[in-house]
Order: sequence, then C-alpha cells, then structure tokens
Amino acid sequence: MSRYWSNLVKGLTPYVPGEQPKIENLIKLNTNENPYPPSPRVLEAIRKEANSGLRLYPDPDAGRLRQAIADFHKIDASHVFVGNGSDEVLAHVFNALLKHDAPVLFPDVTYSFYPVYCRLYDIHYETIPLDQDFRIRTADYRKPNGGIIFPNPNAPTGCLLGLDEIEALASCSQDSVLVVDEAYVDFGGKSAIPLTRDYPNLLVIQTLSKSRSLAGLRVGFAAGNADLIEGLERVKNSFNSYPLGRLAISGAVAAFEDREYFESTCKAVMKTREGLKAGLEKLGFSVLPSSANFVFASHPDHDAALLAARLREKRIIVRHFRLPRIDQHLRITVGTDEQCQALLDGLGEISGSTR
Ligand SMILES: *Cc1c(COP(=O)(O)O)cnc(C)c1O
Repeated sequence: MSRYWSNLVKGLTPYVPGEQPKIENLIKLNTNENPYPPSPRVLEAIRKEANSGLRLYPDPDAGRLRQAIADFHKIDASHVFVGNGSDEVLAHVFNALLKHDAPVLFPDVTYSFYPVYCRLYDIHYETIPLDQDFRIRTADYRKPNGGIIFPNPNAPTGCLLGLDEIEALASCSQDSVLVVDEAYVDFGGKSAIPLTRDYPNLLVIQTLSKSRSLAGLRVGFAAGNADLIEGLERVKNSFNSYPLGRLAISGAVAAFEDREYFESTCKAVMKTREGLKAGLEKLGFSVLPSSANFVFASHPDHDAALLAARLREKRIIVRHFRLPRIDQHLRITVGTDEQCQALLDGLGEISGSTR
C-alpha cells in the first residue's frame, strides 16, 4: 500500500481474470475463449484498415458498427451503445444506471466482476442466493432495488432463464433498470434484445469475445431504450471519447456481416459441449445443464482445486473459483473436440490414480 494512493484505491479489490500463461502446447480451457479463429472476413477487414488512416482518430460514436449491430438485431442504431469489451460497457452501466439509493441486486453466484464495479463506484448491492440447483429464482428479485443485473445464461453456472421470466421481471420492476448480460447467449439461448422495444427499463449487454471469437479485439455493446443509451453516452464522453479504435470497428463490423461463419462455429461449440458433458458424467462428475461455451462440473470424490492443479501439470488449464458454494466446482471452457478429449483423458488418468 502506498501513501500516494487515494482512499478509493486503497479500498479496491480488483477482479482477477483467468490466467494467460505463456506455456507451449497448452490446452487452455480457463477463460471461455472460442477455440475457433475469427471469421476470415474479420481478419481481412482489419488488414485493410491497417493503413495510413490510423493517423486519424476513429469515429467517436463508431457509427458504422452501431449500424451493423442494429441491422443484425433489427433495432435502431440509436438503441445501441458500443465499448471496449463488454466489461467496459458494464462499468459504464454500473456508474450511469445502477448507482441509486436502493441496492443493486445480483445473484450470490455470478460474474465476479459485478461486486468489483460496485466497490469502484461506491454502489450498494445485495446478493440473492441461487436455488439449490444453482438456478436464478426471478421471484426473489421482486423487491425494492436500485437495479437488477445477471448474466443469461448465468456465469459460471451456464444455466439459462427463459425469455418469459425475463419479460415478467422487466415488467414488474419498471422503476429500475434490469440489465441482462448475454455474454453467452449465442450458445443456445434466446436474446432479450427484441424485448427492449417494449420495456424501456431493459438493457441487454453482449460481447464479441465469446461467440464471435474476438476476445483479443475488445468489443462489446448494449442494446436498449434511447434514454438508457444516452445515459451511457454521457458517462463514456466524460471518460474516453474514443473507446474503439479503427481496427476494432472494422473487424467488428465484418463479424456481424458474416452470419454464416458465426452460426456454424456456435453450432460446433454446442455439439462439442454435449459430448464433453456426457464424457464428464461418465467419469462420475455432476455437470449442470449448460447453454454457454463452458460447463460447470463437480466430482463427489475429488477436490476441485486438486483436480485443477493436477490438470495443470498436464498442461491443461481450467478455472477454479475459491468462492463460497462453488469451491468444489470446475468451470471448463468448451474447446475443440480434440481438446475436450485430451481433458477427459487427463481427468480419467488423474481420477484413476488418486482414488
Ligand atoms: C466474458 C464475460 C464478459 C466480458 O466480456 P468482454 O467483452 O471480453 O469484456 C462479461 N460478462 C460475462 C458474464 C462474461 O463471462
């Protein structure tokens, strides 16, 4: 701790992302990246954009990208906000729309960045326990609040809520904003974006990091009523007028234009996921039903942290959270069929040798 730090900085507990180790031949199943490369059209667009035009600032409003997103989702471009990864969009959402007198509500088991933003922006929050099956019970959120946020499907559980439940919650909490973080929705869920037309308090967040294989480009967006978007713009323009560079804008536009590639890679991930789930169950794991590009699994006879450590020795990394309720679970990203088979082989050897 430095005496030069502000009191705010002294009190922060920053989010720790999954590691990006520099180990050769690593099977990396710890941060929910897509195992498939980005669309060739994305790479071509980025190469084309790498020219002397980089001398100039990008479009501060990323108009081309907002239009491409709006076209894809059949909404108006004025209902789209873009940012440098959905983490940045989420940060602005907490600051602009969820900071009120009443506490913001989110699940006890969820994306662990949410409480970090609350501390950064001094926002009161209350966690609502998932049920025994690790499901969100929307009825528990029907109480006075300064906003509600959860991922759908939830992370790190992978469990999906139906749109009927999202709609019912949006309709009964009209005095505050309901934020649905759809980082994983393309792997088997249905987006709530169409509902934003009917519910001015509903904001939907998506990212290009997972389903569009662009974690390294850093692009995320929010879709919602023009009032909500304007609130986000006000914060953004008080923070960084140019969150997306020219390369990111061009690559992201191309990603939305190549619908076919996007759909085929999502399908491949979902197919591999079901094989991975079955393989894990064969080894004695309990695996939650997943609508995401990861599975959440626990074994009755093997300590999760130990399993993760033994896998690491085999150059396979998965995510283990030392957090209440989930410290006996592993979150395993769906890789290619070959990577998942290597993981299953590795777990088979480990559980055979330590039983
Ligand atoms: C990965 C993830 C994000 C962040 O995605 P970026 O766009 O890469 O910042 C947001 N929310 C959830 C639930 C995620 O899992």
